[in-house]
Amino acid sequence: MDDCLFCKIVKGDIPSNKVLETEDALAFHDIRPQAPVHVLVIPKKHIASALTLEEDDVELVGRLHLVAKQVAKDLGLDEQGYRMVTNIGWYGQQTVPHLHYHVLGGRQLSWPPG
Ligand code: AMP
Ligand code: ZN
Repeated sequence: MDDCLFCKIVKGDIPSNKVLETEDALAFHDIRPQAPVHVLVIPKKHIASALTLEEDDVELVGRLHLVAKQVAKDLGLDEQGYRMVTNIGWYGQQTVPHLHYHVLGGRQLSWPPG
């Protein structure tokens, strides 16, 4: 989508600090990290949020989880654990309407979120 921030990152029109790239996914450091490690894992295809997922996206979503797992291993989060979360819509405080998983780690996280 032309005016989507993360589509622009996928195209390379906006720079990102890449961690990992596959055929259909991209992982890059969040610009405003909320933990020592804060990476975003996104599909290259524009999907607005988890709320607009279709049956055809099932395999893609599975692969996003595998990318997140690889990111966690590469950045040393696998031993202590981490959190993977996707915000959806207004109440979920989603600010970028392109599906993304936050991978947060490197410190003890609290629960429940605010
Ligand atoms: P959310 O609020 O769940 O939609 O998450 C969007 C995330 O994108 C936030 O954590 C932002 O800090 C992050 N973000 C916004 N712009 C950029 C950018 N240009 N590069 C990397 N991360 C970004
Ligand atoms: Zn997009």
